[in-house]
Amino acid sequence: MMLAYMDRATAAAEPEDAGELSPATMAAAAASAGDAAGRRVAAMDFGGLVRAVPAAVVRPASADDVASAIRAAALTPHLTVAARGNGHSVAGQAMAEGGLVLDMRSLAAAPSSSRRGVAQMQLVQCPEGGGGGCCFFADVPGGALWEEVLHWGVDNHGLAPASWTDYLRLTVGGTLSNGGVSGQSFRYGPQVSNVAELEVVTGDGEYRVCSRSSHPDLFFAVLGGLGQFGVITRARIPLHKAPKAVRWTRVVYASFADYTADAEWLVTRDPDAAFDYVEGFAFVNSDDPVNGWPSVPIPGGARFDASLLPAGAGPVLYCLEVALYQYDAHHRPDDDDDEDQGVASVSRRMMARLKYVRGLEFAADVGYVDFLSRVNRVEEEARRNGSWDAPHPWLNLFVSARDVADFDRAVIKGMLADGIDGPMLVYPMLKSKWDPNTSVALPEGEIFYLVALLRFCRPGGPAVDELVAQNGAILSACRANGYDYKAYFPSYRGGEAEWSRHFGAARWRRFVDRKARYDPLAILAPGQKIFPRAP
Ligand code: FAD
Repeated sequence: MMLAYMDRATAAAEPEDAGELSPATMAAAAASAGDAAGRRVAAMDFGGLVRAVPAAVVRPASADDVASAIRAAALTPHLTVAARGNGHSVAGQAMAEGGLVLDMRSLAAAPSSSRRGVAQMQLVQCPEGGGGGCCFFADVPGGALWEEVLHWGVDNHGLAPASWTDYLRLTVGGTLSNGGVSGQSFRYGPQVSNVAELEVVTGDGEYRVCSRSSHPDLFFAVLGGLGQFGVITRARIPLHKAPKAVRWTRVVYASFADYTADAEWLVTRDPDAAFDYVEGFAFVNSDDPVNGWPSVPIPGGARFDASLLPAGAGPVLYCLEVALYQYDAHHRPDDDDDEDQGVASVSRRMMARLKYVRGLEFAADVGYVDFLSRVNRVEEEARRNGSWDAPHPWLNLFVSARDVADFDRAVIKGMLADGIDGPMLVYPMLKSKWDPNTSVALPEGEIFYLVALLRFCRPGGPAVDELVAQNGAILSACRANGYDYKAYFPSYRGGEAEWSRHFGAARWRRFVDRKARYDPLAILAPGQKIFPRAP
């Protein structure tokens, strides 16, 4: 059955002829002309800059299906296999030109996501009663969206993971293959630090369960491994008591030095004196609806009074965003009579010493799920105005705290002072919350910043090519100025030299060794353009 399908896909001179196939119905699909819609979708991603048409889209219903597809590809001299989460990459990382794309969302939809027949998402109790506040885990398919994990955990069990991304319509396998960061990362670690166990199908078609204690090298290789070592078919995520509500506050700075000093102070507090979430972004000092002040207030927030800005404020302002969780449903957020323990009071006290512009503070009390779903509103608006489906030439960097002030001067105030028609996130996290054994490449030094230039293209705005060229100029400036930085979601076309520079010599050697061990024919994740397929 598989060979009939492979012959067909392999023989397809034009990928368009191969049709879309499911392992469960391989023969039927191979015999049919197939619909091209799935391959058209898999040929694109959120970035909209790269197009690579696969020979076929495989819809696995189990880890066995994933293994079958990989083994079948290995029988050919050239076929590759890419796991596709939700296709939210921006540079073709989940594509496989002329190869097989595994639609991992179908694994999440299947009633049984593993050959052991576990239910789609399952609550698992920690064997030894748990440590670090965790007593339960969620076993989730690699193709589940974080949004699905959130609703399942909170609605059914009052439990939730600790570490998130800003936007939750990303898959578990997709973010674990990269890092998975948000305002919780400084405190709880990135998502790659919040996994207890993985079920992985490696590039040799072998199915393995790995963790810190069982096959640790594979476990760490896969985390942040850019899909190079195996396909994550299941992840075991620690769960914690879900907060009921969130005190969400934004404050504005005119000085980058004050902004970073306060942000770094906040992310280095002891846990019992720390916020649960610290993020921030740069915005333009103007009333531009997309790039300026109107992008700052939050639900329930007050009007932005620009007259409060200090004289001489520059072209760019900074907004620090913090959140404090509230666990007690009966406690009102502003319950000041109970020894001043309401989250609003606690939050205000924690912010009292910060040097933001007084009067430019915006606060709201929102439900926990609403808070985590906040980017959905952005998506809805972007879908309405067409910018969700337009190209997204995004650039994501980790910049060392050592160089972030220079980066701000040269890049944010220098090259991007008019804004980018989308968020410019700039917020710190701590390297000690990342395990050095994972495949993620980070700058030196304990504190580094996520700099995320999340460009949306608008009609009449700059041409996409110009924006891509500007991203290139930013990277050139980083290199020319000797900044200590790493690309997050790296995309290189220059081969080994660029990847070796990205990882650094020692980590690149480890990455190459791990590739030889787990995917010797370089079948997996060809869209990353790291290793050519071995015949
Ligand atoms: P895909 O783009 O489909 O895949 C990404 C890579 O992982 C590919 O190489 C693919 O082959 C591989 N892969 C996918 N699934 C698996 C699997 N099961 N096993 C092995 N390899 C796999 N990132 C953050 O860290 N924080 C954020 O706050 C954040 N916000 C975002 C907001 C938006 C609107 C968008 C579009 C992206 C955002 N991202 C964020 C980036 C996101 O983490 C990446 O796009 C990531 O690739 C996950 O997307 P995905 O699940 O669609 O994976």
